[in-house]
Amino acid sequence: MIAEIIVDVSAYPIDRPFDYLVPEALESVIEAGARVKVPFGPRKVLGYVTGLKQESALNPKKLKPIHELIDLEPVISGELLDLSRWLANHTLSYEIDALQVMLPAALRAKYEKFIVVTEPEQLLDADFIHFLAGRKRVPLKEVDSSSLMKTVKKYVGQGIIAVDTKVGQHTAVKKIRMIRIASHEKLQEVLSAIQSNAKKQIELVQWMIRHAEETLGAKTVMEQTGIQSTVLKAIIEKGAAVEEFAEMYREPDAPMLKDVAIPEVPTTEQQVALDKLAASADSGKAETFLIHGVTGSGKTEVYLRTIKHVLDKGKEAIVLVPEISLTPQMTARFKERFGPLVAVMHSGLSAGEKYDEWRKIHRGEVSVVVGARSAVFAPFQNIGIIILDEEHESTYKQEDTPRYHARDVAIKRSEHYGCPVILGSATPSLESYARASKGVYTLLTMTKRAKNQELPAVTVVDMREELKTGNRSMFSVQLADAIRQRMERKEQSVLFLNKRGFSSFVLCRDCGTVVECPNCDISLTYHRAHERLKCHYCGHEEQVPLVCPECESEHIRFFGTGTQKAEEEIAKLFPEARVIRMDVDTTRQKGAHERLLRQFSEGKADILLGTQMIAKGLDFPNITLVGVLAADTTLHLADFRAAEKTFQLMTQVSGRAGRHDLPGEVFIQTYSPEHYAIELSKAQHYEPFYTHEMMARKQYGYPPFYFVTLIQFTHEDLLKVADFAEKGSRYLKDNLSPDTVIIGPTAAAISRVNNRYRYQCLIKYKKEPKLTETLQQLIKYYRTDWIKSGLTMSVDVEPVSIY
Ligand code: ADP
Ligand code: ZN
Ligand code: ZN
Repeated sequence: MIAEIIVDVSAYPIDRPFDYLVPEALESVIEAGARVKVPFGPRKVLGYVTGLKQESALNPKKLKPIHELIDLEPVISGELLDLSRWLANHTLSYEIDALQVMLPAALRAKYEKFIVVTEPEQLLDADFIHFLAGRKRVPLKEVDSSSLMKTVKKYVGQGIIAVDTKVGQHTAVKKIRMIRIASHEKLQEVLSAIQSNAKKQIELVQWMIRHAEETLGAKTVMEQTGIQSTVLKAIIEKGAAVEEFAEMYREPDAPMLKDVAIPEVPTTEQQVALDKLAASADSGKAETFLIHGVTGSGKTEVYLRTIKHVLDKGKEAIVLVPEISLTPQMTARFKERFGPLVAVMHSGLSAGEKYDEWRKIHRGEVSVVVGARSAVFAPFQNIGIIILDEEHESTYKQEDTPRYHARDVAIKRSEHYGCPVILGSATPSLESYARASKGVYTLLTMTKRAKNQELPAVTVVDMREELKTGNRSMFSVQLADAIRQRMERKEQSVLFLNKRGFSSFVLCRDCGTVVECPNCDISLTYHRAHERLKCHYCGHEEQVPLVCPECESEHIRFFGTGTQKAEEEIAKLFPEARVIRMDVDTTRQKGAHERLLRQFSEGKADILLGTQMIAKGLDFPNITLVGVLAADTTLHLADFRAAEKTFQLMTQVSGRAGRHDLPGEVFIQTYSPEHYAIELSKAQHYEPFYTHEMMARKQYGYPPFYFVTLIQFTHEDLLKVADFAEKGSRYLKDNLSPDTVIIGPTAAAISRVNNRYRYQCLIKYKKEPKLTETLQQLIKYYRTDWIKSGLTMSVDVEPVSIY
């Protein structure tokens, strides 16, 4: 028997299955999707069996045998193996990367090197002999001096020692020590044999008599009796109990929040959606739905009830939520409804915890997974529904290879299982809404809040006017007054400051003008090093103006603000305010996110100040004010999605206020109050925004009218990176259809990261049959040749951001 195996080596010529002999003993147990250890060149590596066959095109004598079968139960199902091939092709990534992205990190290989002494009598070096201290096999990492390393190298050359690689697993199954207590009679017997001065032993056996024939955790026994492990050990040796190891799951502690009342009757709009979804789920056909429902319209309730419907039919459900909204509140709602049937997967879990959640799914012990992006690969075998909440979120796209979008993977899987996909959002991505308008997706609309609350009143504050009246602070008079009122009324405020990426732009603080590219309708990016403005779409470049081109004001300068600065200003304005700041700095620690949110929910602060991580998921009754300190930071991102992102954010943050009984109020501060993304987010009407934005996209030829693919190049040497980028774009121009537009190469908006210069080019196309083939060829040049000169090149098909 021959196995086709993808080995754990990301390198160009190796990106294909290799044939290996299956040792006879393994023939009856080996299955596609199992992990194996195989020899590869001089070392051993981890591999995945992707197929089994009787014959190889190669000479069977030349085939090497599989060294070891790791999994008796395959870790990757046939469906997921097919999916990995599609994924590798679709995202132009290595097959090994496409396979590994589906598994928890714990199942990926950990390689450890050992020195193995093969000719002990030829060892002469005294230091080395001392280092070995009689051992024949020593971890290579213990070699910590350069003189020892030299000896190792010499001996390896002489064949006296060899270096062996052990392929291990990152995280093991967690086991705990259990104590199975003997019978009453046996304990009496043990007790009578203990010497009377062994007081502690007697005490323990007497305690055990009360727990005869129970099996308890060793830790529990010691805690309850206050007895040390040596005593326990002695008693076990005398036969009072048997020690066993039980496999267990690491249970990430889920802070339970206050009960959420389960609504008794669906609203009319919910009922319409529920009926359509149930009918589709029962039809056995794949269908993608877009639920466009205002914040608080009860979308989550629709998910929960549809999942219930699917579970009742014996099927499984995958629910994806953006990482940052995977709050305890969200997961509590699912756990409350489906109890132990729910597995939760998010980046806050340790590798071991993730592995355990994954095993629960793999073994069929749960039927619902709520998780971030990668949970789309949950190893269920009978999926009945896949849901993406907040489908417009850019975190659904993975930024590293394989650069997949969870939406595409969900739809691909739904085709296999013949089940519906639900995309839900208050502000759908333009792509999804366009597909729904064309009938590719089925649109379900929910226009009213479930509890009939009013949407909060939104006021747009013109910061140019503030400046004219001499207010140079980050807080307008109106917003400051509103915060003061909340403090008096003991209500809570959320202040939102978006700081995304590093790109900055030049803004006139008198008239709100932002300097834009004359060719691209996109803000020019400020490059501090050269004091110049650049367009990273088309390469246009100009001097930073000294006066505003519109109003000739001198108050024109680059714009950027931070949460820390905002915190300082709050302290000055409201010295008595209790503030919780949430940004990447304050939430780095595990569990910090939950802790801060809990503090806020318990009323331990008046103001929650944060970045986009607080924009969603928050659902606390006492929040009655939301302030957006500077809407401009998203509005002028050097990205064609800037307006869309702004509209989405404004709508999301506004949705945080007044979700319960108290009415909410929202203030949006901006230098561009007349911009349509801001104007239209006031009333939270999506359709007019959609129509306006589609016109702009059409005019400038951006998605969803065109597809784009981004190629990025980085190198330590500026000339080299420019040169390769030029070569790459030339190749694309020569090989793609004449209708396809290649923009660039240009310097990226963030032109240097970690001392590497960044260049990019953008491919725009409506239909490009030669795209995959051409990109594969370009990647081949890169992987076989260009890479040697220190270049990195990445290809991102349908990127979500382009800086
Ligand atoms: P969304 O996901 O659209 O923001 P949710 O499902 O979170 O909306 O619902 C918003 C609020 O309305 C929640 O507090 C929820 O419990 C409540 N709710 C949802 N559906 C109903 C209903 N049919 N009747 C009463 N309350 C409901
Ligand atoms: Zn101006
Ligand atoms: Zn331009």
